[in-house]
Amino acid sequence: MPEFDAIVVGAGPAGSTAARELAAGGARVLVVDRAEFPRYKACGGGIPLRTERMLPFPIDQVVEDSVSLLDVGWRGRMRFLRDSGEPFAHMVMRDRFDALLLEHAKRAGAEFRPGTVVRRASENGGVAIADDSGFRATAEYLVCADGAHSPVGKLIGLGHDIAECAAWEVELRGAAAQRDYRARALIEVGFNPWGYAWLFPKETLLSIGIVLPREQAGRMKRIVDAYVRRLGLEGAETAVAKGHKIRFRRGGERLATGRVLLAGDAAGLADEFTEEGISYAVHSGRIASRNVLRALDDGGLAGYERDIDREVMPELKAARVIGYMFYGMLRRAPRPWMFASARFPYLWDAFFAVQRGESSYAREVARVPVLPAMAERMLRPR
Ligand SMILES: Cc1cc2nc3c(=O)[nH]c(=O)nc-3n(C[C@H](O)[C@H](O)[C@H](O)COP(=O)(O)OP(=O)(O)OC[C@H]3O[C@@H](n4cnc5c(N)ncnc54)[C@H](O)[C@@H]3O)c2cc1C
Repeated sequence: MPEFDAIVVGAGPAGSTAARELAAGGARVLVVDRAEFPRYKACGGGIPLRTERMLPFPIDQVVEDSVSLLDVGWRGRMRFLRDSGEPFAHMVMRDRFDALLLEHAKRAGAEFRPGTVVRRASENGGVAIADDSGFRATAEYLVCADGAHSPVGKLIGLGHDIAECAAWEVELRGAAAQRDYRARALIEVGFNPWGYAWLFPKETLLSIGIVLPREQAGRMKRIVDAYVRRLGLEGAETAVAKGHKIRFRRGGERLATGRVLLAGDAAGLADEFTEEGISYAVHSGRIASRNVLRALDDGGLAGYERDIDREVMPELKAARVIGYMFYGMLRRAPRPWMFASARFPYLWDAFFAVQRGESSYAREVARVPVLPAMAERMLRPR
């Protein structure tokens, strides 16, 4: 008899959410992570308001700012400001946010083992994981929420075919970083063929980063340094500088075997317009727990991929259409597109509504039936 009903590898938003809901559902759950918590995660920490609604506890204690202003610039030349009137996203530092999610998983009854780098994983009438220190654990089911590199998913043979891009981030602190960016997110566009740089305000830090196609990873640090200089922040102290991948599932990639499933970034559940993944990580963690709880009763994870296809993929596919349109128009006609974006409120009002959970990308795309075909022509697959 396995020691646990479920093992969750990775205590990020996907893993901690899955673990909390599994434990709350009565399952015996072990969560392991290679890191000691709280741990740093390279991330802008921009959390759309809709994410909060998926969590059954408040997150106010880790919210460092809430933004209602979007300041959009094109290569440091054209820029415009849109005011959404009320916050559309919270800003968090991931060490504190993820520690809060993990704390709730532990309170629900999940056991946590930090500092456990899973090196071996197998599936054979149950699942087993092991690290290099002699630690081994067994369970009925395995949730791989091990992030965009997903080493454990790959050991099982899942996730090799998921598309990816590159991102780089610096956290600035000190006097120069105390300039007033409260309530304001800065976005810098104009990269070819797509991508954007950002500045997100935190309580004592400024998070500045960039996301670009994978082939352009080598340019990221240089572009961020130049962006920091352009903002007049070169005097600020760099607290952390780190890169990481983001992955995109485009549909059809396998996410589960009989006893193992991928959730969050491991499954490529990030969108190709904003490149954000935290809300999808939380959502897929919930779908994962529901399927594992069901499997503990009637065996098999066959429904997991179906549920992701029904509940998450329409949103990711619609975000991709919007992303192709947005970046494609910027590439072909930057001036008219920036002018139109600044003058006509529809695009950004729809974006704010999606961020707040009052609309969805799928609903917005469905309003313009020709959009998917146009988008495909705008920007070829990355
Ligand atoms: C630079 C950057 C900026 C971003 N900005 C945003 C943003 O502003 N908003 C947003 O929504 N999304 C953003 N994202 C994406 C977001 O960070 C991810 O979508 C999110 O972290 C996914 O959560 P997760 O739980 O799936 O994985 P993660 O948060 O990556 O957690 C995975 C966990 O697995 C653990 N792990 C990995 N391998 C092993 C192993 N072998 N054994 C044990 N444990 C292991 C890791 O230590 C980690 O704690 C950004 C990403 C990057 C790279």
